[in-house]
This record gives sequence, C-alpha cells and structure tokens, in this order.
Amino acid sequence: MAWFEKSTDDAVRPEQRRVRTEGLWIKCDSCRATIWKKDLEANQMVCPKCGFHFKVDALTRLKFLLDDENWETFDTNLRTTDVLGFVDKKTYQERLEKAELTTGLKDALISAVGNLNGRPVVVCVMEYRFIGGSMGAVVGEKITRAIERAYERKLPMIIVSASGGARMMEGAVSLMQMAKISSALVKLVQARIPYLSLMTDPTTGGVTASYAMLGDLNLAEPGALIGFAGPRVIEQTIRQKLPKGFQRAEFLVEHGMIDAVVPRTEMKGFIAHALDFFCGPTQ
Ligand SMILES: [Zn+2]
Repeated sequence: MAWFEKSTDDAVRPEQRRVRTEGLWIKCDSCRATIWKKDLEANQMVCPKCGFHFKVDALTRLKFLLDDENWETFDTNLRTTDVLGFVDKKTYQERLEKAELTTGLKDALISAVGNLNGRPVVVCVMEYRFIGGSMGAVVGEKITRAIERAYERKLPMIIVSASGGARMMEGAVSLMQMAKISSALVKLVQARIPYLSLMTDPTTGGVTASYAMLGDLNLAEPGALIGFAGPRVIEQTIRQKLPKGFQRAEFLVEHGMIDAVVPRTEMKGFIAHALDFFCGPTQ
C-alpha cells in the first residue's frame, strides 16, 4: 500500500487550467507584454505599453466611431451568388457558410447610419474575418448603396477598409466593383459631400486601388499595411530591394500617399474635427 495517494478527481488538467484563464490576458503581438484584456478593451484594443493596434472586427469599429448603439444598419440581407461555381481547396459556398458562422454577417461589410459626435454620417466598415475582407459583388453593391444614401440625405460618407483586395472567387465581377464604387463617389464630389477613407491593417489590392485611396481625406491607423501588390511581387518586378517600412502607414504619409496617420484612440475626434471643417459645425 502506498503511503500517499494522489487524488485524481480534484486534479486540474492543464487544458482546464487554460480554459479558466483564457481571454483574461492577452499577449501583445508587438512588444510581447502581457496585458489585462479589460485594460486593452478600455484603450480601444491598442497596447497601453507600445501603442500596437490590434485588429478589431467591424462591429467593434462601429462602436468606436459612432456615439451610441442607436445606429441603423441597412442592406444586411444581401447575399452573394456563386456565379462561377468556384472551387479551390473548398467550394466558395463552404467558405461563405463558414464566414457567416464566424462573423454573423452575410458578407464582408456593415453599412450603417449613425451619429459621430452628434453629426449624422453614413459609415461602411469592412469585416476582415469574412474571407479576408475581400470585395465581391455584395461589398461593392452595399458600398454603392451607402454612397447613394449619403448623397440623397446629404450626409458625410466614411468607409473603413480592412481588406485583402478583390474576391478571387468572383473573378471579373469583383473587379467591376472598383469602377462601380468609384463612379458612385463622383456624385459626392459633385454634390460637395465629404468622403473620408480610413485604412486599417491591412488594406491592399483592389480596395486600395479604388475607394480606399479616393477620400477627400485618406487616413490610416499606425502601422497599417497599405499597398496594392505585395512586397515580394514588387521586388521581383523592379529587381530592387524595398526600403524598410515600405507599405506601412507611416512610410506612406511621409511620401505623400495618404494624408494622416491617426491613433485609434484619437480617430473619432479627428474625424469629427475634419467634418466640422468640411461641413461647418453641427447645430
Ligand atoms: Zn505592445
């Protein structure tokens, strides 16, 4: 008989221990500091130690930008059709279903009308978790409709991008959205209604090549990757080594590609101030 018996009933298995603490602490991807999740959330998901901007989903982004949760979302039920019957490792249909399950959205964008520091605005926010925030027919249609709404109601337009670019699975149809949205934006120019583009990490491909760069103000979050083609493709084409920080927000503002890099915690105030400048103060 053993002198000591170890009771296995109360023993906490490592996986259980992990479950209990999961989500309370988060490790910063940049400075590796361990941050209390509550602190991180209170700081709009920006690392309090080093200022690294964590990715946030579209809904959280809306909460950061709009005054309260009384905003009205629209075109929420638009769904894409699989026009090409596209299949890679999985079928496009499977990818759509999985993305819908993860995000609760029907496609990679939320459109809303709400108040930003008391001023009504139309906002479109891209959802990166939905097939890499890729732009297909639905994203294109929703943005175009949102722009038309801004035009009809004479409201400022804001688009927050987080995207890998056009949606491969929709081929030329996704590329057409670039032209469609760009021509809708011309209406706002003619009506002298401001359009602000906010680029977050990452904003690339066809999204950068169309509406993300067409703002009256093109803003970006610190450290955001913004570009058209990836650095490897560019290096192979021009046969040169690219400079450090190439395609990051700070590099682009230095080279005149975008207008300002604004920390997330100051973004709402910055946009409100810019809209005061464009439209005059709110009543
Ligand atoms: Zn950090």
